[in-house]
Amino acid sequence: MVCGPDVSTHTIAFNTSFCHLRDTSAEADSKLSTLIHEVTHFDDTFGSFDSIYYLRESRKAVGTERSKVKTNADSLAGYVVWGEVFYAS
Ligand SMILES: [Zn+2]
Repeated sequence: MVCGPDVSTHTIAFNTSFCHLRDTSAEADSKLSTLIHEVTHFDDTFGSFDSIYYLRESRKAVGTERSKVKTNADSLAGYVVWGEVFYAS
């Protein structure tokens, strides 16, 4: 969780369930995708919204809810993580 306007400290608070997530994945939520998700919320990065949660759900919405995915935090995180995991392997 973040406070989007807090661009002076960029503080990010994670629930303890974060510690049990996989490190990376191109298919499902991970520590990396969660971190990127949160960073996109800050006003000075992207100012994203939580219109659709979870990477899988945001991928499914590409064909049906284009107006939401353009500003959706998990859609942005999925775009970045897919490339990172794909090219790292
Ligand atoms: Zn969020």
